[in-house]
Amino acid sequence: MAQTTESESRKLLGRLRDALAEDSAGQARLDRIVQLIAASMETEVCSIYLFRDADTLELCATEGLKPEAVHKTRMRLGEGLVGRVARQAKAINTADAPATKGFRYMPETGEEAYSSFLGIPIQRLGETLGVLVVQSREARQYSDDEVYALEVVAMVLAEMTELGAFTGEGAALSARHQHPVMIRGGVGQEGTAEGNVWLHEPRVVVTNPIAEDPDRETERLTTAVEELRAKVDEMLTASAMSDKEQRAVLETYRMFAHSRGWMQRMCEDIKLGLSAEAAVEKEQSAARARLQNAPDAYMRERMSDLDDLSRRLLRILTGQGRETGAEMPPKPILVARNIGPGELLDYGRSLRGIVLEQGSVGSHAAVVARALAIPLIIRADHITTEALNGDPILLDGEQGIVHLRPEDTILSAFRDKMAMQAKAQERYADLRDKPATTLCGATIGLTMNAGLMADLPSLENSGAEGVGLFRTELQFLARSNVPRRGDLAALYSRVLDAAHGKPVTFRTLDIGSDKVLPYMKRPEEPNPALGWRAIRVGLDKKGIMRMQLQALIRAANGRPLRVMFPFIAQFDEFREARQHLLDEIERERKLGHVLPEQLEIGAMLETPSLVFAPRQFFEMADFISIGGNDLKQFFFAADRENERVRRRYDTLNVSFLTLIETVANRCAEADTPVSFCGEDAGRPVEALCFAAMGLRSLSMRPASIGPVKHLLRRVDLNDARAVIDEARESGAQSVRPAVTEWLSKALAQG
Ligand code: PEP
Ligand code: MG
Repeated sequence: MAQTTESESRKLLGRLRDALAEDSAGQARLDRIVQLIAASMETEVCSIYLFRDADTLELCATEGLKPEAVHKTRMRLGEGLVGRVARQAKAINTADAPATKGFRYMPETGEEAYSSFLGIPIQRLGETLGVLVVQSREARQYSDDEVYALEVVAMVLAEMTELGAFTGEGAALSARHQHPVMIRGGVGQEGTAEGNVWLHEPRVVVTNPIAEDPDRETERLTTAVEELRAKVDEMLTASAMSDKEQRAVLETYRMFAHSRGWMQRMCEDIKLGLSAEAAVEKEQSAARARLQNAPDAYMRERMSDLDDLSRRLLRILTGQGRETGAEMPPKPILVARNIGPGELLDYGRSLRGIVLEQGSVGSHAAVVARALAIPLIIRADHITTEALNGDPILLDGEQGIVHLRPEDTILSAFRDKMAMQAKAQERYADLRDKPATTLCGATIGLTMNAGLMADLPSLENSGAEGVGLFRTELQFLARSNVPRRGDLAALYSRVLDAAHGKPVTFRTLDIGSDKVLPYMKRPEEPNPALGWRAIRVGLDKKGIMRMQLQALIRAANGRPLRVMFPFIAQFDEFREARQHLLDEIERERKLGHVLPEQLEIGAMLETPSLVFAPRQFFEMADFISIGGNDLKQFFFAADRENERVRRRYDTLNVSFLTLIETVANRCAEADTPVSFCGEDAGRPVEALCFAAMGLRSLSMRPASIGPVKHLLRRVDLNDARAVIDEARESGAQSVRPAVTEWLSKALAQG
C-alpha cells in the first residue's frame, strides 16, 4: 500500500478520534464524521446508513446529498445498492451506479448527479450494523487502497456504534443492546423459561479502536501472537497423545497462529491507523462473514477455529479474561455460541434455559439439556452479540423463539402462559397417583425419559411408572476418555436404587450422527444421520458395547434388568446384539457374579424397515420401543434438525398414524409389549391418537406426564378411533383437524 495512503488513513482516523472525543450528541458526531471522510477521500458525497429495525436502513448523516433526506430516506434490506451491501455484507464498487444491478433512484436525496458509488458494510463480528457510502460525480472505480481505507473506517464506526457513540433520537440512533429483540431459532428441547442472560463467553470490549503509533501497536500484536503461539503449543503438549480429535483441532490452531497471511493482514490494518485489538477484530469480523457464506462444513469448522483463536488473542491483548467478576444473575439463562457437554454439566441445575447461536438437535448440548429437562433454543442468530449479561430474556421452547429485553406486553402474555402452565401442573399433581385410565377402561402406562442421575427424583414427583428410556450417552459424552466399567456399573446401580423397584429401560450407547465421542475416531460422513451410528457402531466396535452390557448386568446385581438396542434396521442386527447380551450373561455367570432375576431385551423401532421385519423379530423381542423422533424423520425423509422441514409433516398425518397402527398390530400378534418414547408421546393430542391406534405404553419427559394423563382420563378411545377412521376415509392428510374439533366438543360436554 502506498505510503501516502497509509499516512492519510492514519490522519483521517486521528481526526475521527478527535471528533468522537468531543462532547457532542450522536447526530453531531455522525455529521462531523461524514464531513471528515468526504474531505479526506476527496469525494463529493459521504453518507452513513444505519438500521432502524431489522429490515430497514435509514440515512442518518450525509455530506453531499440533500440534508432534508436525512432520517427520511429509508430502504429495505436488499433494496437498492445500499440495501444490497447490507444484505450481502459485501462492498459494492462501481463507476456507473445507475447502470448497476439493483440500483434504485431516491429522488429526495439528489443523488442523480453522482455516478460512482462505493458502499462498505459497517459490520462487527458478523453482524451488519449499517452501510458507509462515498459517491462522486466523476465516473470512476475506487482503487483497492481506497476500498481498504474505507473498510478500516467502517470498522471504527462499527466499534463506536457498539460503544454507543452515535446514540441519539429516533429508532436508527437508539442505543444498542437496549431495545427488545425477537430471535427465531430452532427447538433443541421444549419448555418455557423466564430469566436473565448469563454469557458463557463474556464479550471482549475494544474501547480504543484507533491508535497513533503503528510501530507500538505492531509490537503489541507481535508479543500477543507470540504468547498465543506458546499457549497453543502448551495445549498441544498437554493434550493426551491418544486424543486424536482434540489434537487435530489444536494443530489447526497452531497452523492459524503461525499463519503469515493472518498476521500480515492485521499488520496492514494497524498501518492504516487501527489499534492491535481493532485489527484482530476486523479480521475476526471478516472471517465471520466468510463463515456465514462457507459452503461446506469443513470450511465452517476451520473458520470457527479461527474465530476462537481471535477471541483468545483479544483476551491476551486486552487482559479481559473469562472471569469478569460479574455475578451470575438470578434465574440464569445461558447464552453461548456453542458449549460442550462437560461445561454444561458444570452449570448443572442452576440454569433455567439455554440459548445457542449454533448447536443442533442431536448435539451434546441438546442431549444434556434434554437430560436436565430445561428448554434449549438452538441456531439463535446473533444472540451472543445482542445479549448483555443480566438482560431479561424469555425462552419459548415450543416455538423456538427468544425474546431478549421483551416489551411489557410480551412479558405479561408470556407470564400468563407460564402461570397457566404452573396452575395446570398443580392440577396434575392431584392425578399423580391415579392411573391413566380412559373412559372406555383402557389403561395406558406412562413412563418417563431420563439420562442423568439427577432426573430420578422426577420419577416420584411426576407419577411416572418407571423409566421408559434411559439415554446412556451422557456419561460417555461428558468426558475425554472411555468411562470405566466400574464407574458405569456404580452409576447404573444408583439409578436402579433411586427407581425403588420401578422398571428402568436402559438404552445402550446411541452415538454417531451428531453425538460424537471426543475420544473415538469417526470417519467424515456425507449424511451422518444415515451413517455409522448407534447399534451399527456397537456391533462394529464390540468392545465398548460389551463393556457397557457387563456394567449393566453388574449394576442389576440380581435385580430385574431391561436393556434395549437403538436404531435397529433389520432383524439380524437385533439378533446379534441380543446374543452379545446373552453371551455376557453367560460370562458373568461363569465368573460367579449374581445374574439379573429377570432379563428383558428390547429393540428400538426407529427405521421404517423394521415395521416390516419378519414375524420372528417381533416374537424374539421382549419389548419394542418406537423412537418416534428418528422414525418420523426417516418415514417422511425430513431431517429432524432442519427447521425448514421438521414441522412440515404432521405427526398426525394419516400415513404416519397408519404406520404406528401397523407396529401396534404386529406387536399384538406376537404378544410383544410396545411403547412410544419419542418427543411426540408427551403431546396430549398425539398421545391420545397413539393410544387410539393401539399403543398402551408411552414414555415422555416428566413434565408431560400430567397433561397427557389429564387428557387420557377424559376421553373414550373408541370415539377417538371412530373420528380418526372417518378422517382417514375422507382422504384428509392429517387427522388433527377432526380430532381437535371432536375433542373441543367432547371435553366441553364432559
Ligand atoms: C427417538 O429417536 O425417538 C429417540 C427417543 O431417540 P433420540 O431422540 O435419543 O434419538
Ligand atoms: Mg433416536
